[in-house]
Amino acid sequence: MTKRLIFLGPPGAGKGTQAQILSETYKIPHISTGDILRTAVTYKTPLGDKAKGYMDRGELVPDDLILDLIKDRLLQSDAAKGWILDGFPRNVAQAKFLNSLLAELDLAADRVLYLAVPDEVLISRLLSRQRRDDNEATIRRRLEVYRRDTMPVIDFYQEQSTLKTIDGDGAMENVTSALKEAIA
Ligand code: AMP
Repeated sequence: MTKRLIFLGPPGAGKGTQAQILSETYKIPHISTGDILRTAVTYKTPLGDKAKGYMDRGELVPDDLILDLIKDRLLQSDAAKGWILDGFPRNVAQAKFLNSLLAELDLAADRVLYLAVPDEVLISRLLSRQRRDDNEATIRRRLEVYRRDTMPVIDFYQEQSTLKTIDGDGAMENVTSALKEAIA
């Protein structure tokens, strides 16, 4: 089976860690819009300069900065055999854009995996990371933005019945096994 996978879940759910592990297992690219944006900020590219303020405040970057970026990335040759999307789509408009883009390419996502983790676990995980947007005020804002903009994406995919929920509140290896089982 081709593996076109979408990872959903709140900040701190472990999407990035799990996506990295599974991208090595399945030999498909791990596409993280957050990583792409952080690289752009580090190298002070025009995209990075535009995105930085939003990221520092814990807000979503405007869709017009993200949609072309994800389209270009999915059209690169290494993405032909599958991919793991981590951090995209982040709102329903992005999910609809992705659906139309995939339909144009005569493709569809094979699985949408929702990593569920209780809030108190998320906050302690996020506070122990070393990222510049992992301070308490920004974390609180990112969780609010997640609830407002990203949780509706879970409903969107649930209606299309491609979504599987995985308990993300366990040892890393157990979460990886649960994901593999859901993907197989
Ligand atoms: P992440 O690494 O996925 O937690 O993303 C870090 C930050 O990058 C987020 O708080 C947003 O500011 C921005 N970001 C990442 N992905 C997206 C996206 N798909 N849409 C809008 N903003 C994004």
